[in-house]
Amino acid sequence: MTKLAIMGAMQEEVEPLLAFFDNVKETKFADNTYYEVNYNGLDIVIAYSKIGKVFASLTASTMIQKFGCDTLLFSGVAGGINPKLEIGDLIIADKLCQHDLDITAFGHPHGFVPEGKIFVETDESLRKIAIEVANEKNLKVIEGTIATGDQFVHSTERKEFIESTFKADALEMEGASVAVVCDALKVPFFILRAISDTADMDAGFDFDAFLKSSAVTSANYLIEIVKKIK
Ligand code: SAH
Repeated sequence: MTKLAIMGAMQEEVEPLLAFFDNVKETKFADNTYYEVNYNGLDIVIAYSKIGKVFASLTASTMIQKFGCDTLLFSGVAGGINPKLEIGDLIIADKLCQHDLDITAFGHPHGFVPEGKIFVETDESLRKIAIEVANEKNLKVIEGTIATGDQFVHSTERKEFIESTFKADALEMEGASVAVVCDALKVPFFILRAISDTADMDAGFDFDAFLKSSAVTSANYLIEIVKKIK
């Protein structure tokens, strides 16, 4: 039977999930709190990692290796790159990359290190379930590439670099690191984001204004997806 990990990066991303579930049991581990629930017979572990690739890797790895989760879902917010993505819109990652991983000095492409891959693909059957839910609920969702890096992007220049180098549709600070962990540990995973800003000059301002509402949009959709996971 599936044991599900659900993670976000920030408290605001995970709060609406915790509010949905009852009888939450808290466990402290490695400077973080993990919340265990049972929902319709499904064991679920929920946590927010804190921001950035290192914290996100630690949390994903902990959920899998310490808590025994065998499927991982991520819910959160992101900066939009694809002009079709407006604030509040949803994106499901079909693949993810690290836009700030750079050993190009040695002739390697951006986002690549030896024995790694530029793009890590997400699980197709989880994506399929998500699309089914979106169709049933009439939600506008796009599938695309998400680029991850340890930077809050708020410049047209950086955004354009990420778009032209990786053909990315959205960017954030955790997804690809979670992808690398899950890929290595052979755990199917799913990365969902709602747009909070468009990663340009106004990004900081928009992020503050839309973090909460976009985090809720993402969490509500994720809960509908969880209902379909057996
Ligand atoms: N305001 C926060 C920092 C937010 S960092 C504070 O002061 O604590 C941005 C978070 O949202 C990250 O977790 C990242 O995954 C996501 N995100 C949203 N928009 C982003 C953008 N334009 N660039 C990078 N990450 C973004």
